[in-house]
Amino acid sequence: MSFFSTRLEFLRGVGAQRGQLLGKELGLFTYGDLIQRYPFRYLDRTQFYNVVDLHEDLPYVQVKGILRNRQLVGEGPKQRLTATLSDASGDLDLVWFKGIKWMQQIVQNQKEYILFGKPTMFNGRPQMAHPELEEVTEAKAGQSFLQPVYNTSEKLKNYHRVDSKAIMRMVADLLKIALPHVTETLSPALVEQYALMGKAQAMQQIHFPQNPDLLAAARFRLKFEELFYIQLKLLRQKDQRKVTLAGQIFNQVPTLVDFYNNHLSFDLTGAQKRVIHDIYKDFCAGQQMNRLLQGDVGSGKTIVAFIAMLMAADNGAQSCLMAPTEILADQHYQGLKVYADALGIHLGKLTGSTRTAQRRVLHEELRNGTMHMLVGTHALLEDVVQFRNLGLTIMDEQHRFGVAQRSKLWQKNPHVIPHVLVMTATPIPRTLAMTLYGDLDVSVIDELPAGRKPIVTVHRYDANRLKVFEFIRQQVLLGRQAYIVYPLIEESETLDYKDLTDGYESVTRAFPEMQISMVHGRMKPEEKDFEMARFVKKETQIMVATTVIEVGVNVPNSSVMVIESAERFGLSQLHQLRGRVGRGADQSYCILMSGFKLSKDARTRLETMVRTNNGFEIADIDLKLRGPGDLMGTQQSGVLDLLIADLAKDGRILSESRAAAQSLLAEDPELARPENGNIRHHIDSLPATAVNWSRIS
Ligand code: ADP
Ligand code: MG
Repeated sequence: MSFFSTRLEFLRGVGAQRGQLLGKELGLFTYGDLIQRYPFRYLDRTQFYNVVDLHEDLPYVQVKGILRNRQLVGEGPKQRLTATLSDASGDLDLVWFKGIKWMQQIVQNQKEYILFGKPTMFNGRPQMAHPELEEVTEAKAGQSFLQPVYNTSEKLKNYHRVDSKAIMRMVADLLKIALPHVTETLSPALVEQYALMGKAQAMQQIHFPQNPDLLAAARFRLKFEELFYIQLKLLRQKDQRKVTLAGQIFNQVPTLVDFYNNHLSFDLTGAQKRVIHDIYKDFCAGQQMNRLLQGDVGSGKTIVAFIAMLMAADNGAQSCLMAPTEILADQHYQGLKVYADALGIHLGKLTGSTRTAQRRVLHEELRNGTMHMLVGTHALLEDVVQFRNLGLTIMDEQHRFGVAQRSKLWQKNPHVIPHVLVMTATPIPRTLAMTLYGDLDVSVIDELPAGRKPIVTVHRYDANRLKVFEFIRQQVLLGRQAYIVYPLIEESETLDYKDLTDGYESVTRAFPEMQISMVHGRMKPEEKDFEMARFVKKETQIMVATTVIEVGVNVPNSSVMVIESAERFGLSQLHQLRGRVGRGADQSYCILMSGFKLSKDARTRLETMVRTNNGFEIADIDLKLRGPGDLMGTQQSGVLDLLIADLAKDGRILSESRAAAQSLLAEDPELARPENGNIRHHIDSLPATAVNWSRIS
C-alpha cells in the first residue's frame, strides 16, 4: 500500500471522528486526497485597503486594524454581534448574525486582526458582515507571504472547528512527512521543455507559496500535469481503437458522382467539402471511423450525413441516421427521400409511430438488404431491428443519446463494427471538446451556406409585447412564418403547460385572422407531427411551441423566432432556438422577451445573444457562466472533476499539454523508453475512471 493511500485518521491530530467527518463532508479520505485538495484562494497578507477607501463596489478586500466595541445587540433571533475595526484612516463596522457564540470567543477587543470580506455601506458607514478574520501575532508576522484558504463545510466549521485554518494545519503536518514520498510524474524531457517546477516543490508551493511567482509556477506545473494525463489517456484510447477495430472499406462512389452531377441543387460550402473528404479518407482506411462532426446550426450537416450514407450504399453496406425526436426524424426522411428516390436508393423510416404491418415489411427489407438506408428514432435500436450489413451509423444531435444506445447500434453488425459519425449543433468550446471527445476525430463545419443573412436579434421587455405582435403580423403579411416559444422546465411542467396554453390563447386572440399551430411535449407523436406538418405546408402561419422544436427542425420560410421568458433559457438553448430561423434567403429575426427584473447572468446571456451569432463564441461564454459540468450535463460522469485545471480558463495549457501528449505518443507509442518510465508508471497507477467519450452524454 502506498503512503498516499493511508487513511487520514492516522495523520497527527486528526483521529477517528474527524477523519470520518472529513470523508463524509469533504470527500477527503486519504493522505493523497488531502494533499491534492488545493487551496481555492490565498490571502495576500501584505496588501491592505485603508478603511477610508472602502466602498460598495469593491469586491472582497483585506483590511488590518484594532478591534474595539465588541458587543451583543438585540434579542432572540434578531440578536447579533457587532464590533468596529479601526486602522489609521477610519472605522469599519463589523457584524455577525450567525455563529455568535463561537465568534465571541474568537474576537477580542484591543487585538489586531486581518479581515477579509466584502464591504458594503450601511447608514453611510462602511460595514462588513461575517468577515474572515485572523489575529495578527508576532510569530506569524512575516512568516508566509500568501496564506492558503481551503474549502470546508458549514457543519465542519461550526460544529467541529474544522475551518480553513484547521485544514491548513493538517496540510502543513502532512507535507512534513509526505514530501519524500512525492515522486516526479513527468519525464525529464517534458520538465525541461515546458520549464516545469518539480512535482515535490510544486506540492509544497501550491499550499504554502513563498511568493506569487513560485505560486504561479506551481499552479502551471500541476495544471499541465493534470491536463496532460487526461489527453494522454484519450489519445492512447484512440490509437488503440484504431489498431484493434477494423472497418469496412467504402471506396466506390458511382451513385455519389451521379448525385453531385445531377441532383444536388446547390454548391457545397468549402467546409462541407472538407468534412466529406475527412469522412471519405476514414472510409478508405480500413479502420473503424469514430468521428464527431461539429457544425453550427444551419451549417448543413444533414447533406453531409446523406453523402456519407451514399458512400456506404455504393459499397453494398446499409446505413442508418438516428434523430432524437420524431419530428426531426420525419423531417430528415422527407428531405432525403426526394434525393434517394431520384438516385434509386431505397430509404425507409422507422419511428415509434410506425404501424405494425409496415414495421414487419421494413424489418424484412432491412434483413434481406433491399432497404439501403434507414432514418429513425430510438425505435431503430430495438432488438428486432436487424440489418443484413450495417456499415455506418449516424447520430444527429448526439448529446441526447446515451451510451447504451450507441453500443446497441454497434452490435447490429456482428461481423464488423459499423463506422460512427456523431453530429452535434451544440457548439462545444474547443477546450471542452478536446477533453470530452479527445479520443474522437473531430471535423468542424465553420461556414454557413452562401447568401444567408445574419439573424437580427433583439431583446424586448414584456411590456412591449403588442409591438412585437405587430411586427409578427407584418412578417406574416409578407408571406413569412413565425415561431413563439415558451420555456419547458421539467420540475414545473404544470406551470409551463399553463404558460403555453395561456400564451396560445393570447396569440389566437391577437391574430384572429391567422392559422396557428401548437406543439408541445404532452402531445402524442402523431398529433405533433400533424401540427408540424401543417406548419411546414404553410397551412398555419404561427407556431406556438415549447422547446420540442429546439432541435434540428428546418422550415426555411419562417423568419421570426420569439422566445418568451428568454431569461429562463440557457445560452446554448437560446442559440439552438434562434437557429430555427435564418434558414432561407429572407432576413430573419429573433426576439428575446423578458420581464424587467433580470439576474446578472441572465442579462449577460441576453446581451450575448443580441451581440453575436457565432455559436462557438456563445459556447465559450456559456462555459464561463455555467462551468463545464453544468454545460454538458456531465456532473455525474466524473470526467470534469478536475483537481486544479479549469477548462474555462486554461485553454492554452490544455492545448500545450495535448500537443505534448501527441508528440510523446508519436515518438514512443508504447511508452517503453526508459526516459518515459515516470509517465508509464504514473498512467498505470491512475484510477480506472478513464475519461471516455462513451460514458458521456
Ligand atoms: P444543420 O447543420 O443545422 O443540421 P441543415 O442540414 O438542416 O443544417 O441545413 C440547413 C439548410 O441549409 C437546409 O435547408 C439545407 O438544404 C441547406 N443547405 C445545406 N447546405 C447548403 C449549401 N451548401 N448551400 C445552400 N444551402 C445549403
Ligand atoms: Mg440538423
